[in-house]
Amino acid sequence: MGETAKSLEKPAFSSSVNAVELADLAAESVIVYDPNGVIAYWNPASERLYGWTATATVGRHFSAFLAPGTPYTDHWNAILEKGWWEGIVRRRTAAGRLFYAYVRQTARRDQRDGLVDIVEYGRLVAPRPAGTLHDADADITADPTGSDDQYHKLLRNMPTALWQVDARYSAELFTRLRAEGVTDIRAYLDEHPEVVEFAKDHVVVTAANHSAVALMRANEAAELIGPIRYLVAAAPNLARRVMIARFEGRRSHTEETRLLTFDGCVRDVSFSATYPTPPENIETTFITLEDITERVRAQAQLRKLQMEHERAARISTLGKLTACIAHEVKQPLAAIVTNAETSLRWLAKEDLNIEKVRYLTGRIISGAIRASEIVQRVQRMAGKSEAMRIPLQIADVIGEAVCFIQDDIDARDIALEVDCEPCLPAVLGDRVQLQQVIVNLLINSIQAISQAGSERRFIHMSIAISANRRSIVISIHDSGPGISDDNLSHIFESFFTTKDGGMGIGLAICHSIATEHGGEIRASNHPDGGAHFQMSLPTAPAENQQGT
Ligand code: ADP
Repeated sequence: MGETAKSLEKPAFSSSVNAVELADLAAESVIVYDPNGVIAYWNPASERLYGWTATATVGRHFSAFLAPGTPYTDHWNAILEKGWWEGIVRRRTAAGRLFYAYVRQTARRDQRDGLVDIVEYGRLVAPRPAGTLHDADADITADPTGSDDQYHKLLRNMPTALWQVDARYSAELFTRLRAEGVTDIRAYLDEHPEVVEFAKDHVVVTAANHSAVALMRANEAAELIGPIRYLVAAAPNLARRVMIARFEGRRSHTEETRLLTFDGCVRDVSFSATYPTPPENIETTFITLEDITERVRAQAQLRKLQMEHERAARISTLGKLTACIAHEVKQPLAAIVTNAETSLRWLAKEDLNIEKVRYLTGRIISGAIRASEIVQRVQRMAGKSEAMRIPLQIADVIGEAVCFIQDDIDARDIALEVDCEPCLPAVLGDRVQLQQVIVNLLINSIQAISQAGSERRFIHMSIAISANRRSIVISIHDSGPGISDDNLSHIFESFFTTKDGGMGIGLAICHSIATEHGGEIRASNHPDGGAHFQMSLPTAPAENQQGT
């Protein structure tokens, strides 16, 4: 203890009391360093805290007792410059255990401002009975009373990572702030962000359970003891929010955030701080963390899939729309060109047949009107406006549709026969849409017959009422090769085609139009050979049956 220890007898004490004796009795660790950092006094509480005796330490430089590799020069210079230092430091016991101590260090100077010594008061950050640290001290599951009751077993085995935190610093800070009249903690912390930074170093973890050790990728609970800074390292502003919640008197604060583990990984966690309940307990806050990385990853994956799906759906709708326009407009445009060419040929003839040219010009006009109606329908589809629903005589609709492709049928030498039951009830529908279905089905039949080079070349259409009289059934049977069993279940899918240059959109459109009309469309192979398509459409209600 030497000369420096004698300086403890200075005026702070009454002359009748020996300061060294008082320091010997103190519960806190009291260490005195000489101006060169050599330990001059080491009280019995220091022996209990660090495990070294005064005999082993006094007369030796303090650096010999630090954790290996601990830098100390800057710290030492800071005390010399500022005159004091207070905070948490990592220390080592004689048994080699690392722990955190809360220390206050004061540089004492003589009247000529010469440095006399540095006095350090220190305590273990964990609120535990004084005693030499042993392995279990950092483990939250180790009961300080030594018993291993149900409560501690529960804590030890609970799957949630649990930290016990000494939050005295916050409690004292908030008491002081309230006394100073601070009511708006958010505004205060906005103005003084350094307070949050300071708290990260002064609010300390005092114990942790096994799950916490595992979550942090640590080897033992002792590694988790110390300032809570590491717990909030990957969570921007979390410390601030935790402080605000406590100041505002809430019982707990929970949020989903991120945790940086000791092996450098970032995990998604659900963070909960449960605050002490004054007045019984003002110092212990519990923090629990639940690793939700997999859940967050799965949710992100799901969101990504949903976005991709929406994107694909948009692209596919756009693609369908484009394909639809191309497919539907192609036929009337081709008819217009054919009719115009024929018309020109007739005009070039010497014996001008005005009637024939007039007829062809009429066909050109109706082809153009049809093309424009299709464009309008597509526009309606794109604008999501409702399709028209008016009472229609399906025989008329089919007659008009056949008219559009009569030339194709004739050019390929196909016999088209249409059987129509008389006095059929009307259906409610969109004329252009239903014509499209018929045109699509007939074009497919024409192509099937042509491609197969069938000898028997016919298309047989029939329009009849169903047995229960609730729907009109339109059936188209051709003399083509029919549809293979493998393809039968796919032909109504968008972009399914077996044709070179086919778009595979025609039947998909037919299907959606039939369904939108409350009906259905089916394909099969006719017992006599060839494809057989049947579309049924519900008949219009009685009030719509007049005047059609
Ligand atoms: P695309 O005509 O562009 O191929 P569709 O959707 O109209 O597109 O037809 C899809 C497929 O259904 C055709 O490629 C063909 O294989 C089959 N198909 C449709 N109608 C017939 C038919 N009448 N006879 C035989 N196969 C047909």
